[in-house]
Amino acid sequence: AVEVRDVHKWYGAHRVLDGIDLTVAAGEVTAVIGPSGSGKSTLLRVINHLEKPEIGHVSLNGELIGVRRHGERLKELSERVILAQRSRIGFVFQNFNLFPHLTVLDNVAAAPVATGLLRKPQAQELAHTLLARVGLADRTGAYPRQLSGGQQQRVAIARALALRPGVILFDEPTSALDPELVGEVLAVIRDLATSGSTLVIVTHEIGFAREVADRIVFIDGGRIVEQGPPDQVLDDPRHPRTREFLSRVL
Ligand code: ATP
Ligand code: MG
Repeated sequence: AVEVRDVHKWYGAHRVLDGIDLTVAAGEVTAVIGPSGSGKSTLLRVINHLEKPEIGHVSLNGELIGVRRHGERLKELSERVILAQRSRIGFVFQNFNLFPHLTVLDNVAAAPVATGLLRKPQAQELAHTLLARVGLADRTGAYPRQLSGGQQQRVAIARALALRPGVILFDEPTSALDPELVGEVLAVIRDLATSGSTLVIVTHEIGFAREVADRIVFIDGGRIVEQGPPDQVLDDPRHPRTREFLSRVL
């Protein structure tokens, strides 16, 4: 499980996360929605400790992320430990972020080798399996620039899976895609959702969130305003801000 406890994050005087508490149980799919600038990406970046909160902490399966408890104080971890922890969290970005100079196969196989999880032949075998799962068995030798955006994003998902992460974070995985390519990427995420992966998905695709998420979290102004099952939050929101947001996006 991922546990976010009383996380505050600010840039200068600008408070971006204002006391976030969030628990994502193993096997659960959480969709995070909210207006632009509300702190959704920052929350994912804190979970992956690409950003450090000023107050609060995050843990993955009971282990503190980014800091370690030492008496009453939270102590910084070494870069080596942070990298090892980060490898247990998959991150799929809006803009794919593939390595342009590596083939599709090597994009997926590189991380398990670099982190010492697998030797190269095993990593490549795993990469073949994962690329078949995302429907790209026939493109393993291509380079990212030779693929469509939807194909690149599916490679990025296979790459995230290669480290067998405890949770995969998605930051608007379809918002950089042409409309006709959105469906193929959502189909892959749907497959992960129904096969028991733990997912946190920031998305503007409200219909998709309703379909795959166990829970919807609505964030506004760096706070969780409302959360619950999709039919409750989307069809019967309690908070006026949720209603106002949904009336604009639905
Ligand atoms: P969007 O839906 O547009 O992606 P978001 O909910 O993901 O928005 P964030 O990217 O988390 O929002 O940003 C939240 C706020 O923090 C914004 O006001 C943004 O300008 C600010 N912010 C984000 N990163 C930084 C940074 N590195 N330095 C200063 N301000 C930042
Ligand atoms: Mg964002």
